Amino acid sequence: MEEARFHSVHVPDVPGCAELDWEPVRNGGYARVRSYTCDCRPTFYELCYAHGQAFIRRTRRVNGKTLIDECAHGRPTRTLAVWAMLLSGAAK
Ligand SMILES: [Zn+2]
Repeated sequence: MEEARFHSVHVPDVPGCAELDWEPVRNGGYARVRSYTCDCRPTFYELCYAHGQAFIRRTRRVNGKTLIDECAHGRPTRTLAVWAMLLSGAAK
């Protein structure tokens, strides 16, 4: 029997979209997550706030490993603009 599951936003996969400047992080550290995309996908994103700054965290599950990258550290208005690009498929 298929279990009902709540799905969050799915990021569209748009070929040729802009590539963001992701920085790999060894361990994510504390952050408040304000928004997130659906984790049913092998790659999902979180909009995070920590220490008065905003940033986007990407989590990828590749061959049983979990890889974490972050980008768009800085003022929330700028990070939110990047977040909107991610959700629309204009960037990844
Ligand atoms: Zn989903």
